[in-house]
Amino acid sequence: MYRLLAEHASDLVLRRDPAGIVGWVSPSVVDVLGIPPEAMVGRPVADFVHPADSPSHEALLHTVLVTGSPGGQAKVRFAQPDGGWRWMSVQARVLCEADGRVLGAVEALRDVQTEVEAQESLARSEQQFRLAMASAPIGMAVVDLERRFVQVNPALCQMLGRSEEWLLSRGIADLLGPDPEADARDLRVRLELQSGQRDSVTSDEHMLTADGADLFVTHAIGLLRDDHGTPLWFVSQFVDITEARRAQGQLHFLATHDAMTSLANRAELFDVLAALLDREQSATTSVGVLFIDLDGLKEINDTYGHAVGDQVIMRLADRLRTHVGAQDVAARIGGDEFVVVLPVLPGVVSAAENVALARAEAIREDLAAGVSTDSGAIVPTVSIGLALAEPADGVEDVLARADQALYRAKQGGRNCIVVFDPTEDSARPG
Ligand code: GH3
Ligand code: MG
Repeated sequence: MYRLLAEHASDLVLRRDPAGIVGWVSPSVVDVLGIPPEAMVGRPVADFVHPADSPSHEALLHTVLVTGSPGGQAKVRFAQPDGGWRWMSVQARVLCEADGRVLGAVEALRDVQTEVEAQESLARSEQQFRLAMASAPIGMAVVDLERRFVQVNPALCQMLGRSEEWLLSRGIADLLGPDPEADARDLRVRLELQSGQRDSVTSDEHMLTADGADLFVTHAIGLLRDDHGTPLWFVSQFVDITEARRAQGQLHFLATHDAMTSLANRAELFDVLAALLDREQSATTSVGVLFIDLDGLKEINDTYGHAVGDQVIMRLADRLRTHVGAQDVAARIGGDEFVVVLPVLPGVVSAAENVALARAEAIREDLAAGVSTDSGAIVPTVSIGLALAEPADGVEDVLARADQALYRAKQGGRNCIVVFDPTEDSARPG
């Protein structure tokens, strides 16, 4: 009955004597290893075992033969006729006569090649992932479904100025910056990933480093699922874009500001003013424009030199900065030409005019205190033209009116403020 069982088992069974010579092997050896039974019988089992696995195989048999106890199990590669090797799991039992004399052992061999290959491939991909994480120049993390860190890489630690232990005892929420919406947004995105609405999500996030510095990152999240589709982990990648952002901000600043004074430049003034004029002018507010030009800068240049002329321009810019509120804009639009936009004047024209005039007067009076230059204190004066925007005005319209008023101020002897008057001849020579 046992022989029948052994002959029909898909597993391989062999009997060996105490010296390790095969006495009998089940016919399935042909199917499993490609070796006919007769090729194995009469030869040492060790001839068919991979040399590297021989010690553990013999140790197993030794335990069984000496102690008589089932010696556990060993994973052993067996030879195949094509020169290849096949992983088999070996279990052994001692074989005794009724009087206790040891006849040998029975080995039961089960084919575990596929199992071992799967394990090896899993171990390989785990190793690959670990290696990729360890050497990645970008921050990487494995995050559990409660958003706690499970694995973090050196680049992420370095980016945040945090130790691996610190991160592993915390979660994503501990990294998010001052935006109060960031946490809710992160939660929502992860739910969308889990529900399958999205495969991966990339967003720019504001985070904080250990010493409280701003860290801007592009954060990509993917979701890892098991074979049944159940969510397992999130895999996060973080690219530090702080420098790129800063450079972008600098570029934007350079493109929109005057290099000498850091006031808004002409292009920026036009953009801002256009946006202000587009916004429906209400009954409660109106937009005022002051067109300011230094008096006699040419003469200052001629007397003190161009560098001192530059200093006067810069000092005037500094003064203008102190006179503009959060909603106002001060711009340098030419050599010694400046524009101040006052967007929240009272809606009633006469009142708006009075407020704008007072602001212009304050600027003019401020300069009377003089400005310091390399040639000592100079008392520059300015002429100012003032105009209020009218409904449906474009940028050019209101600026032209303020310029017209400025022209009148220059004509009127300089160092004064003139409000645009539509009844006067608008023709301005040259
Ligand atoms: P006005 O009272 O009519 O304004 O006389 P002005 O001498 O200021 O002449 P205007 O405003 O018509 O022209 C500006 C002059 O300022 C022209 C040029 O000599 C000088 N200027 C223009 N840009 C700069 C600059 O960036 N630095 C210096 N130092 N001088 C400049
Ligand atoms: Mg001038």
